[in-house]
Amino acid sequence: MNRAYLTTPIFYVNAEPHLGHTYTMVVVDTVARWCRSRGVETFFLTGTDEHGDKIAEAAEANGVTPQAYVDRISGLFRSTWDACGITYDHFIRTTDEHHKRYVQDVLARLHERGEIYFGEYEGLYCVGCERFYTEKELVDGKCPDHRTTPEWIEEENYFFRMGKYQERLVAVLNERPELVRPERYRNEVLAMLREPLEDLCISRPKARLTWGIELPFDKNFVTYVWFDALLNYTSVAALRGEEFFRDYWPCAEHFIAKDILKPHGVYWPTMLMAAGLPLYDHLNVHGYWVMDSGKMSKSLGNVIRPLEMKARFGMDAFRYFLLREMAFGQDAKFSEEALVTRINADLANNLGNLVSRVLAMQQKYFAGAVQPLSSGWAAEDFELRDKFIQAENELNSYVAELQFHRALESVWSALDHANRYIVQTAPFTMIKDPEKQARVGEVLHHLLEAVRTLSRLLAPFMPDTARELSALLALSDDALRVPWGQGFVAGHKVNPAKVLFPRIETDAKK
Ligand SMILES: [Zn+2]
Repeated sequence: MNRAYLTTPIFYVNAEPHLGHTYTMVVVDTVARWCRSRGVETFFLTGTDEHGDKIAEAAEANGVTPQAYVDRISGLFRSTWDACGITYDHFIRTTDEHHKRYVQDVLARLHERGEIYFGEYEGLYCVGCERFYTEKELVDGKCPDHRTTPEWIEEENYFFRMGKYQERLVAVLNERPELVRPERYRNEVLAMLREPLEDLCISRPKARLTWGIELPFDKNFVTYVWFDALLNYTSVAALRGEEFFRDYWPCAEHFIAKDILKPHGVYWPTMLMAAGLPLYDHLNVHGYWVMDSGKMSKSLGNVIRPLEMKARFGMDAFRYFLLREMAFGQDAKFSEEALVTRINADLANNLGNLVSRVLAMQQKYFAGAVQPLSSGWAAEDFELRDKFIQAENELNSYVAELQFHRALESVWSALDHANRYIVQTAPFTMIKDPEKQARVGEVLHHLLEAVRTLSRLLAPFMPDTARELSALLALSDDALRVPWGQGFVAGHKVNPAKVLFPRIETDAKK
């Protein structure tokens, strides 16, 4: 892989940024940083989805025009990701002019080629979901998500011949078992495709909804919001020119939460097939964060807002928790108690203590000046180095497999080893013996190498901390990349220790 086109879903602007959005952003940001550090040409796309019934309703409830409403909420998403230090390359809004033109171009082409037809439709429609339901999908006659009775709607609409791509999609999923991953979600998509795949209604009559992209071949209709939204992924690639599209689009890695598996796993690939475009490389699907206090909702007052978390705990600590606590693909529990426990145990104690002990000893024994390494390393020096090499190798394979929690486990296992190395070599005892001064200098040199390696390994996950570590070591980015033992020249001065992660006292312990 020498290119990566990474995407988050474009978030629907009927809610403000919360934990679910933030997790996807943090995951993609981590992958983007990791790719860039490996010399992969990386493009990171995010944005907002701004059309449809729900937006029109929310704008009306707020007493503003839909455009004013989406401007505000989209701006809020963007400023939140900026404040969180998310390194996206492009922020698309489905109300962008280039996107509207692109959607209309695709629709016109598909219509010309007979992939879209006009027909009558009647069915049970949930406004909350903006989709029709079959009787079978309802629970006690109600929408399974909204617990409301759907409306019976009869209307004429335009349809995309999705059904005719059913067999081809099944064949692709069999040929490319990694297309949708982890595997459980591929199996879910295959299960959906065991039922006959119906054609997709891709329009809404203006009589019912005007807030959308007008169909290029019929002024009485606007485009169904999902058809419009999914096209954001290729719309931005197309905007950047033919060469970009050809080079980057086939390297697309979509990241989504499991609630939008069907549109991404079924609608989108069939739309790409109909448009004659290559499929995405992977659809990467993650689970839900489950709150201790039940489902996250405004009325319960347990909505997790990213900027509040950043202000209270620091962005890196929050990122660490999200990536360490959830196994990608599965659900995970969120609680502040668990977050504080992780911060205190893993960050304050384990990582923070190692760094401050090493720098404090370096300062106290050698006024911060790095001592030379002799050519004869002790067995424990090799072990320490090898443990970090192993951690880096494991980290790279785990991130490639989207096992972020395992990648961090590997780093922390090397960290544990470094803390044991201090106990084992006991520089604080040796320093009392004038004949062992040189050995103390070597031990600390190896420990500084451990801190330097940590700065490199943690950079994709905890970018601020990584920068802080290299600043404490007074090293440039280039010096972070060289092999163990070559990071410091003798006499180089490192900075005094500081507290990276203060322990958080909980009320219970006070
Ligand atoms: Zn619904």
